[in-house]
Amino acid sequence: MSRLQQTDGLTEEQTELIKLVREFVDEQIIPVATELEHKDEYPQAIVDGMKEMGIFGLMIPEEYGGLGESLLTYALCVEEIARGWMSVSGIINTHFIVAYMVLQHGTEEQKQHYLPKMATGEIRGAFSMSEPGCGSDVSAIKTKAVKGDDGGWTINGQKMWLTNGGSANLVAVLVKTDTGVDSVYRNMTTFLIDKESGFGETAQGVTVPGKIDKMGYKGVDTTELVFDGHRTTDAQILGGEPGKGFYQMMDGVEVGRVNVAARGCGVARRAFELGVSYAQQRETFGKKIVDHQAVLFRLADMAVKVEAAHEMMVKAARKKDSGERNDLEAGMAKYLASEYCSQVVEDSFRIHGGYGYSKEYEIERLYREAPMLLIGEGTADIQRMIIGRRLVEDYKLKS
Ligand SMILES: Cc1cc2nc3c(=O)[nH]c(=O)nc-3n(C[C@H](O)[C@H](O)[C@H](O)COP(=O)(O)OP(=O)(O)OC[C@H]3O[C@@H](n4cnc5c(N)ncnc54)[C@H](O)[C@@H]3O)c2cc1C
Repeated sequence: MSRLQQTDGLTEEQTELIKLVREFVDEQIIPVATELEHKDEYPQAIVDGMKEMGIFGLMIPEEYGGLGESLLTYALCVEEIARGWMSVSGIINTHFIVAYMVLQHGTEEQKQHYLPKMATGEIRGAFSMSEPGCGSDVSAIKTKAVKGDDGGWTINGQKMWLTNGGSANLVAVLVKTDTGVDSVYRNMTTFLIDKESGFGETAQGVTVPGKIDKMGYKGVDTTELVFDGHRTTDAQILGGEPGKGFYQMMDGVEVGRVNVAARGCGVARRAFELGVSYAQQRETFGKKIVDHQAVLFRLADMAVKVEAAHEMMVKAARKKDSGERNDLEAGMAKYLASEYCSQVVEDSFRIHGGYGYSKEYEIERLYREAPMLLIGEGTADIQRMIIGRRLVEDYKLKS
């Protein structure tokens, strides 16, 4: 077992579960990941295996049919899964955010209705804030829900970049609503949209046009979502009351950031493993390249980054599990893990020489996947903004 990314203080149950996931990754994901990714094929058999293991309900409480595990356990499982293939962790990430939001902010009816089926993977969640015109600046969203005289709502607008937008049958979507309050943030509402999985008109007035063709992160579908007079009711507002959507989404994104950090850790560890293995096989100038000090130092730098990102990610997860706000730690973990992941993947690519550029070598896939982590759940610069502002609050000068 790898000496890197060991976590102190885990219970026996956590250790067992993570071991199980690691074995699943080694046996069921790594051997097929690159081929499926090159074909941009949805990993249905892997998803079925994860359903059986209860991965879709990992953090859903036992009373709703899940395993009731902590964010830390979840993040450590994600780290293992991403080590096998980042796209597979993408399949569970938005599902997990939506389940978390329903659990934290939903009405009891919404919890009873959605969570047991989300725990089994029968209902699968997508999370939708971004639009063609905005991602970082959430306050600029234009998709709007208007309440009619009959008490129902009509939604119009266009959403962008929905991970699992096609395969999900539940979308938590952030829209503008006019609550009469003088605050852009309190005029936003999260609606729970039930739809069929697939493409085309998947519910009345809800169209998923098709998959966005991406440079990496293939296999998992990323889509647009078009609302054209979609009719819905108060019962589909998360928590039952309009005007709370922005805060609900930000809460979801906070746990999502720990998850993206965990993905960065997993991808970085795989890149290290590939690099350290290749370096002991390839010979130049009469010796293994690992025996050239430049390569050895590169591996050492990679391992330090793999380890540091893991520690930061675990700290952020534990903070949230303790019930404390973790925006600072989650921002730091996401920023550090995604930047380090990018650097470690680049270093491993360099160790592979020309072969790193060949589709036959796994590092080529990782090289196309890593940049997504710099963007999703808030870009690196947005994390720096959050970290900086939060610290200036904490270190405010007393005048
Ligand atoms: C593969 C993929 C999957 C995704 N999945 C989802 C999903 O499931 N759900 C969802 O809602 N969204 C999703 N997104 C969208 C993602 O969250 C956004 O792309 C991201 O938030 C950045 O928004 P943007 O693309 O509009 O870039 P912009 O906000 O236009 O930013 C462009 C550049 O400007 C910088 N910038 C912007 N504002 C500032 C500022 N104030 N200070 C400094 N720099 C700034 C950014 O850092 C970036 O470098 C996904 C994106 C991708 C690529």
